[in-house]
Amino acid sequence: MSERKKKAVLYPGSFDPLTLGHLDLIRRAAAVFDKVYVGVLVNPYKKSLFSVDERVIMIRRVTADIPQVEVVSFGGLLIDFCHKLGIRSILRGLRDASDFEAEIKVAQGLRVLDPGLETVFLGSDPRYCFLSSSMVREVASGGGDVTDFVPEGLAPLVAAKYEEKKQDKA
Ligand code: ADP
Repeated sequence: MSERKKKAVLYPGSFDPLTLGHLDLIRRAAAVFDKVYVGVLVNPYKKSLFSVDERVIMIRRVTADIPQVEVVSFGGLLIDFCHKLGIRSILRGLRDASDFEAEIKVAQGLRVLDPGLETVFLGSDPRYCFLSSSMVREVASGGGDVTDFVPEGLAPLVAAKYEEKKQDKA
C-alpha cells in the first residue's frame, strides 16, 4: 500500500487575541489535515494588543492537546512563507458575507501569484459567527468579561493587558 501523502495547511491571521471561533476552526482543520500550521502574522504597520511572541505562546498553550498543530510566526509575503514550509493549502474562516467578499478577493489574488496554492474555507460554527478579536478587545477595553469569547485561561491575560495600559497612562 502506498503511503498517504501528508497534507498540511497554513492558517494565517492576526489572532490578537485568539478567540473561540479561531480555536474551533483549528480543531476542525486538524480533523481534515495531517498538519495545521497556525501562522501569526508579523505586521509592523498594525498596532496590536499582544506582541507576536505573546500570541504564539498563548496559541501554543490552548492548542497543546492537538498534536497536528504547530504555531509559528511569519512576516513578509504569505506565498513566500508557504513555499518555505512546502505548503500548498491556506485556511481562512468565513463568518458572513462581508468575510466572503474580502476573503475571495485575497484568494483570487493568491491564485494569480501562485495557481498551485489553494485557499480552503471553513464556515464559522453558528456559535461563533458574531465573534472577532476586535470585539473581544472592545469589550475588554471597557472592563467587560471576555471569558465566553476566548479559550480557557486567556480572559485574565486580556484583562491584565488593559490593566497594564491603564497603569501606563496613570
Ligand atoms: P486577519 O487579520 O488575518 O483577518 P484574524 O485573526 O482576524 O486575522 O482572522 C484570521 C482568520 O480567521 C480569518 O480568515 C477570519 O475570517 C477567521 N475568523 C475570525 N474569527 C472567526 C470566527 N469567529 N469564526 C470563524 N473564522 C473566524
